[in-house]
Amino acid sequence: MASQRIAIVGAGMAGITAARTLVQSGQDVTVFDKSAGTGGRMATRRTVFGGFDHGAQYFTVRDARLALALQSVPDTLSHCRPWSANAVRVLDPSGRVVEAARPGPEAHWVGVPGMSALVKHWAQPLADAGQLHLSHQVLWLQADPLKPSLWAVHGVDALARPWHQGGFDRVLLAIPAPQCAQLLQASPGRGAASGLIAPTLTVQTAPCWSLMLAFPLASQPGLNHLGPQWNAARSTHHRIAWLARESSKPGRSSIERWTVQASAEWSSEHLHDDAERVQHKLMRAFSELTGIHTVPNHAQAHLWRYAKTTQPLGQPYQWDPSTGLGTCGDWHLGQRVEDAFVSGLELGLRLCVE
Ligand SMILES: Cc1cc2nc3c(=O)[nH]c(=O)nc-3n(C[C@H](O)[C@H](O)[C@H](O)COP(=O)(O)OP(=O)(O)OC[C@H]3O[C@@H](n4cnc5c(N)ncnc54)[C@H](O)[C@@H]3O)c2cc1C
Repeated sequence: MASQRIAIVGAGMAGITAARTLVQSGQDVTVFDKSAGTGGRMATRRTVFGGFDHGAQYFTVRDARLALALQSVPDTLSHCRPWSANAVRVLDPSGRVVEAARPGPEAHWVGVPGMSALVKHWAQPLADAGQLHLSHQVLWLQADPLKPSLWAVHGVDALARPWHQGGFDRVLLAIPAPQCAQLLQASPGRGAASGLIAPTLTVQTAPCWSLMLAFPLASQPGLNHLGPQWNAARSTHHRIAWLARESSKPGRSSIERWTVQASAEWSSEHLHDDAERVQHKLMRAFSELTGIHTVPNHAQAHLWRYAKTTQPLGQPYQWDPSTGLGTCGDWHLGQRVEDAFVSGLELGLRLCVE
């Protein structure tokens, strides 16, 4: 197949996996992301007290193709490592362990030094080639006025300055389902008429409030850490679904840091609350679960509006050869990093043989 110009919107696991696959088959790929960094929901928030994985906490490696990518892409294993939080407990609402740690057969992998490191590493060749445009939000797609059979991509940068790039044979959307439907609906002509919108609208997602807490005084000589002996737990508390000691992950600084994830139900109920109010409520629940009553030196709440897929599409990608538009992302298959990887890979492979 002759080399095609392909625009990919979204530099998370799905978009970068699709991009890598297409570049390997000789395609001319340009990636746009509205954020200042790559990784999407595999995110790391840096603070003076150390980093927080405030999106995905870890990923599994069940798919043989992901295992192969980790082994075969040069230097990948220096950007991710297994985390011994395999020993995940289940807590009741008062913080009592109701299900002990069961060492599972599969490792929990994390990026090093933060979750975003893996995708950042895989995106580096695109960045080096000037083919990765960060802080570039895409607002709509349109037929290229110079050659209407091709696509032009329009958007704004971080300072709300408009930009556009044309001449693309294909455009792949690797963004969460609600944003994908919105972008297509905002695209005049072939975009808004695309048959990709209706299936995308069937996908459902849930939000998640994440809370980041740092207790630097707990790292003073003579004090190992605060609170519980375990490093990660699921919880049945109505506010909190998951909590983990960030400082227990490999390649992190030792300053005591916790990331707390609210349950999907509680996050939905508090979707429109301000971050300060949410922070206060989640900190109370955190104290109930861990017994840690020390006031943290750093506390910050972050809302992921489209955190997790609750109703996936049920197919690995969408591809419409008549318009040259495609979609990929975790929401096609599920709610995990591996789903995003498989979706991006399969769309990339499909286009390699088009
Ligand atoms: C709180 C939380 C906890 C999680 N925990 C786990 C876990 O423990 N294990 C696990 O496997 N998975 C977990 N996940 C899910 C995992 O993070 C996702 O499955 C995976 O990262 C999705 O990758 P993606 O590439 O499909 O989408 P994303 O990572 O969302 O990437 C989409 C990218 O598109 C960009 N974008 C969106 N709209 C536009 C636009 N208009 N223009 C330009 N760019 C745009 C975004 O900035 C983003 O970078 C968690 C997610 C959250 C939020």
